[in-house]
Amino acid sequence: MNLKSQLEASLSPSQLRLIHLIADSAAQSGFPLYIIGGSVRDLILGSAIQDLDLTVEGDAIALARALAKRHGGRVTAHSKFGTAKWFLPKDLQTESSDTLDLISARSETYKHPAALPTVMPGSMDDDIRRRDFTINTLAIRLDGAHFGELRDDLGGMDDLKQGIVRVLHAKSFIDDPTRMYRAVRYAERYGFTIVEETLALIPPARPLIEKLSAQRIRHELDLILEEWNAAAMLARLAELNLLQPIHPALTFDESMRQRLTNLHTYRSLQHLSPWNITKGEQMRASDLGWLLWLMSLSQEQVSALNDRLHFTADLLAALFAASKMYAVQLSFVGLKPSQCVERLEAYPLAAVEAVGYAAKDPRVKECFDEYISKWRYIKPHINGDDLKALGVEPGPRYAILLRRLRNAWLDGEVKTKEEEKALLQTLLNSSSASP
Ligand code: ATP
Repeated sequence: MNLKSQLEASLSPSQLRLIHLIADSAAQSGFPLYIIGGSVRDLILGSAIQDLDLTVEGDAIALARALAKRHGGRVTAHSKFGTAKWFLPKDLQTESSDTLDLISARSETYKHPAALPTVMPGSMDDDIRRRDFTINTLAIRLDGAHFGELRDDLGGMDDLKQGIVRVLHAKSFIDDPTRMYRAVRYAERYGFTIVEETLALIPPARPLIEKLSAQRIRHELDLILEEWNAAAMLARLAELNLLQPIHPALTFDESMRQRLTNLHTYRSLQHLSPWNITKGEQMRASDLGWLLWLMSLSQEQVSALNDRLHFTADLLAALFAASKMYAVQLSFVGLKPSQCVERLEAYPLAAVEAVGYAAKDPRVKECFDEYISKWRYIKPHINGDDLKALGVEPGPRYAILLRRLRNAWLDGEVKTKEEEKALLQTLLNSSSASP
């Protein structure tokens, strides 16, 4: 199949219609229009195109405005970056999106190593040359009669066919050290090889890692932890000595590798589990990865890493909790369900989930798993109103009685509403009898 047919086949009818409509407008304005980067790479590798990010050699904002004027919807723009987001009118929305990004081709230069790039309007040639790896420089032209033409200025197609990750120039990792992490991510994701010349550029760039902001380095690690084979990527980063320059506490040992190895299987299970969809209990895909990776660190190490990486508040709380539970996991053996619940309720659910998944002892696993899937939902039938109706004086005693009833359900001491009522009666009698 030629590229044009491949592109057409990989887009849904609504995506294709939208692309043609934009391509027509671009052609009328005399702007070459391209899909470039990851979507072209993935298309050639045989996967469907996810993002329809389009690059315009010209003024993307003007094109987006012209499109909205003609077809409806509205546009927001960032003039500094020459990017526009078109909020599509109803009839042009696709199954995957109701917006479309249009980006003006640009050049990027670096004032000093590891700085954020200075962005300037540029040609398509500049836009291709600002990229990280040859496999990400392939572009498909879309406007007018050019629809489906491949633009391969830097040998990206050969490298893609040969399975090679290669930077565009010798200063690439110096300009942007995050690319070293990206190289490993692509190599492990696709089973590609990082070429020797590119590997040789790592040592001189390694000292610049400490110049990267917390946000930039964490973003790259987040992306890795979202991948199904994060374990292989982190192992490779450790082998290339790219973890400890971030922070000396950041290591990747065998136990970490084991915990992260079946992350993808685990994620698919987690996705099915009902708690995952409960509001406020969702965790980001990468957070589970962070927890599995770092739970074996001490509280001090977590704290030191946070100074470097600035975790979100939720993730930090979960990391501290996971580190605490992981260290004392065997103390959960032999506890009654009510005792497990009492201890686990004090921790963020994400941490309980991660430590339960990682626990080796089946008795510990059971305690954590049952807590997540069943025990934490168990409540007594009797509530505060019932206690009031029975004449119990409102106060702290309510919580004590209700907890006692809940524990009785958890531990199998009561199995029916009648047994629960009888237990309450006994509790009330014994407390009224006590001095
Ligand atoms: P993924 O499948 O991981 O999302 P992607 O290629 O779509 O891959 P993005 O992070 O969305 O990745 O980036 C889009 C494109 O922008 C890349 O294909 C690459 O050409 C370019 N790019 C991204 N980050 C960098 C960088 N740090 N340096 C140079 N070019 C980059």
